[in-house]
Amino acid sequence: MKPTGPIPSGFSTIDGELAIAGRPVSSLVQEAGGTPLFVYSEEMIEQRIAALRSAMPARIEINYAIKANSFPPVLSSISNLVDGMDIASGGELEMVQSLGYDMDRVSFAGPGKRDSELEAAIAAGVTLNLESENEATRAVKIAERVGTRPKLAIRVNPDFDLKGSGMKMGGGPKPFGIDAVRVPALARDLANAGCDWRGLHIFTGSQALSADAVIEMQAEVLDLAFRICDEAGVDLPKLNMGGGFGIPYFAGDEPLDIAAVGVALEDKLRGLKDKYQKTRFFIELGRFLVGEAGVYLTQIVDRKVSHGETYLVTDGGLHHQLAASGNFGTVVRRNYPVAIASRFGAPPVETANIVGCLCTPLDRLADKVEVPQAEIGDIVAVFCAGAYGASASPSEFLGHGPAREMLV
Ligand SMILES: *Cc1c(COP(=O)(O)O)cnc(C)c1O
Repeated sequence: MKPTGPIPSGFSTIDGELAIAGRPVSSLVQEAGGTPLFVYSEEMIEQRIAALRSAMPARIEINYAIKANSFPPVLSSISNLVDGMDIASGGELEMVQSLGYDMDRVSFAGPGKRDSELEAAIAAGVTLNLESENEATRAVKIAERVGTRPKLAIRVNPDFDLKGSGMKMGGGPKPFGIDAVRVPALARDLANAGCDWRGLHIFTGSQALSADAVIEMQAEVLDLAFRICDEAGVDLPKLNMGGGFGIPYFAGDEPLDIAAVGVALEDKLRGLKDKYQKTRFFIELGRFLVGEAGVYLTQIVDRKVSHGETYLVTDGGLHHQLAASGNFGTVVRRNYPVAIASRFGAPPVETANIVGCLCTPLDRLADKVEVPQAEIGDIVAVFCAGAYGASASPSEFLGHGPAREMLV
């Protein structure tokens, strides 16, 4: 037997079935037209953002990194709840444009921006988080051609990272951002060149559950940003401090203590130099806002035994839920929270492996988990599927196509 991660709170049971937003999964599946299906709860997203706002200092603004989940109804709903959106491609730019969103609230990070993407973003009035000196030169040239004053910020590659984070995005050689020592010179050049200087972006990592690690990282980010702007002699209109707030996926994971993070940040922001009194401070989050609000539902199509082990074979798999299969940035595969949704809360009677329908041994949704007796037709729920599920899985692999998605 292997443990599963903790099922997020906010779900209920109706007639022995898992219910999302007060609706049993069978009715959701029926409405959607079948499985596999991602269901996202609007109320859970709203509650999460409200809780975050009440924990953070009032002057901290919240950006949503849309790569976590860009399902249009989710994007539309969340756009009314956050202060800005972070995009990372020309495709994501089109997504926020189609919402009719205020482009002054959008920033565009990501290495390898093509000229066509830079041009579209500059023309739209999006802030570019510049990832290299070359990109800065190209952006300035494109803006001259387009005849616009570009909104430019610099993404800094800091000399530190987010301790204990699942994915490190700073510290040492990285394809992201510009090494901190070279940033003051570039910031000065951009300000002198008459660009619309928007400040700095410092993102150090993802999926941290330790409040101490986040607190330390935020203090380092603030100190670095002030040091750079002092040295460059430029002001700091905006500081995107990154995010990295994690969610519990695995057995033993404890939720991040956002209250502790908020208190420490409030403290750190007290007594800012005059120069930084007007700075707008942002955190940018993806999974923390939407991850626990999503459930992936898939149906059991076969039940078999091999060498004494029971396999529940579903119509879903890693082509929709790559992360749950353990193939998206994990070193050791561990079980996400999973349940037999159509027998939710029933006592476990056996140990089973829950797998997907792809013809590869990588396609595992849960290893050796304790489950109630489950038969063909039963529905399996994989929790924590609201972020990096549909948006980060190879849905074309083996030709099964994408899952259905719905916001309730
Ligand atoms: C992916 C990404 C995020 C969001 O990360 P989460 O772990 O989902 O919060 C934020 N900022 C940048 C620059 C990113 O690349």
